[in-house]
Amino acid sequence: MKDRILIVEDEAPLAAGLKDLLSGEGYLPLVAVDGRQALEIYRRRKPDLVLLDVMLPEKSGYEVCREIRKEDPRVPILMLTAKGEELDRIAGLELGADDYIVKPFGVGELLARIRAAFRRQRALEPGPGEEPEELVFADVRVDPRRLELQKGQRRCPLTPRELALLKLFCSRRGEVLDRETLLQKVWGVRYEGTTRTLDQHVAQLRKKIEDDPARPRLLLTVHGVGYRLAGEPEAAD
Ligand code: CA
Repeated sequence: MKDRILIVEDEAPLAAGLKDLLSGEGYLPLVAVDGRQALEIYRRRKPDLVLLDVMLPEKSGYEVCREIRKEDPRVPILMLTAKGEELDRIAGLELGADDYIVKPFGVGELLARIRAAFRRQRALEPGPGEEPEELVFADVRVDPRRLELQKGQRRCPLTPRELALLKLFCSRRGEVLDRETLLQKVWGVRYEGTTRTLDQHVAQLRKKIEDDPARPRLLLTVHGVGYRLAGEPEAAD
């Protein structure tokens, strides 16, 4: 069955171009021209991925993102932002977007990011009969099935990307992971600006796992290299 991709874009020529491109690549594209229609089509057709423009009539891309996330924590959401909308990107990440593509973008980049989003999502789905393992470190427990993190008594939702990052850090606890490795393993593709995206994701994670996100004691910055999760690797038996 073809993967359904919902394109939410009010610029008609861009929407039409994306539609042609995606159907040529074997996807089933659906098009919405404003935020209200986006949610309507989303609920009716349950797309497998959403390409979401930020500046939209009726409801903004942020509102659409937030509403979709309330209903489905897993569907990949790629936001389309204009150059220089850095603040907007952070707002989008807080609302649960997975990735950003800055306009104008190349066809190759867009397709690579869509494929990476699908790969990431599928890597998180447990195989038949397989129970996804709970991650535990310090006073944090992560339930991959519910995409939920618990720190002490506080629970909060995780995005699939945040989960992928935590999994990687937990599997190599105590080790310094350089940016290149993190980007390659979690994002799957390299592109200009990903480094900022990585830092923004780390900042989001710190809000969820640290006692004081301004003074992290778990997810540590290794200047000039990358990050590491404090602690010792689990003893192997
Ligand atoms: Ca727009």
